[in-house]
Amino acid sequence: MQLDMHFYGTYALARAAGIHKEDAYTVAYAAQYVDDSTQQDSKQHEDGGLLYGIATSHKGGQCILNHHKDVHGAREEQRRVWVPFHFLPGAQGSDFEEQLLCRKNSKPAQEMMQNHLLIAPQKAYGLELLGIAAHVYMDTFSHFGFSGVSSSLNRIKDGSIEPLEVENPKMGDYIISKLGRFIKRFKAGSIVSFFAEETTGSLGHGAVATFPDRPYLKWSFEYEYPRENDAVHLPIEAEQIEVRDNKEHFFEGCDLLYNYFKTFAAEKYDEPDVIPFEELADSIKSIIAKEDDCDGRIDQWRSLTWNTAPVIEPDIRYNKSHWENQKYDFDDSEESKDNISSHVYKFHQAAAYHRYYILKDLLPAHGIAVY
Ligand SMILES: [Zn+2]
Repeated sequence: MQLDMHFYGTYALARAAGIHKEDAYTVAYAAQYVDDSTQQDSKQHEDGGLLYGIATSHKGGQCILNHHKDVHGAREEQRRVWVPFHFLPGAQGSDFEEQLLCRKNSKPAQEMMQNHLLIAPQKAYGLELLGIAAHVYMDTFSHFGFSGVSSSLNRIKDGSIEPLEVENPKMGDYIISKLGRFIKRFKAGSIVSFFAEETTGSLGHGAVATFPDRPYLKWSFEYEYPRENDAVHLPIEAEQIEVRDNKEHFFEGCDLLYNYFKTFAAEKYDEPDVIPFEELADSIKSIIAKEDDCDGRIDQWRSLTWNTAPVIEPDIRYNKSHWENQKYDFDDSEESKDNISSHVYKFHQAAAYHRYYILKDLLPAHGIAVY
């Protein structure tokens, strides 16, 4: 999913569920920052203190380029970054690769939400943790069927990917040209073909480009190795063609995430101001269905109203540098401990906790030793 859903959608759902404005901003910011914390950079204070920053995402083939001579390095990054933060394994199926496939609203995803809802109120970094959970949980509604490691199960048949029912012809052309550029970008000479194959073909949803992340899109494709339970099967060649209507999955994710937020708000605040989900449902459906680029989709979320008031207050905007720049305050302050209360410090506390929890606690409990 992209900025429209991870920040603006998450913010709207958090506010509607009764989470106070400032807290909702922190939760939604953390949800989006999972995609923007791409630097593995730490800051050291002159008193010796350290802000240890971890990358929770990588742009394009960055992780592969950084480890171009070290296959194990790239594989380790897949396990440390893509698996816990973007492709939570569904723990279904009979072998390891199959168990790593992300599944929509899977049992591990539900357990993670329950765990983080329990942990969040006890921790200073609880809101940041809830935001990370929201990112990972919502990703299961777009990334399902693919895994965060190089796997033949992530491959799709050449040329099988197709957008369906796109009403705006300009948007149809835009999607197709993006798909073309995506494939070219990674087939161009800068990356050796082995890694191009790794990136476009068999890591995550590389093979299907950004199709799973566009909320309005209905599309179809064929896995090279068909499997069950991932998507609706067409009546013709029933075992082969997968049809996905992202709208349905995004909406289902919104509904369920709202309920988790509502549970959190009910515990945290006395009498939270809740907007019933049913009263926003039709508007959310039409926001999701809007065929537009990311900026246009953000405008849609920003225009969501309830009882004539905007759900997202006009002053709420995502600015990527807000938390990133807090890293630079780390060595400017008198003592390193002054920064423990900054959002960026708390985000990295939460990210480290989350990664430990997923890789060392939740997945092994489901019989998955991925890290
Ligand atoms: Zn993600």
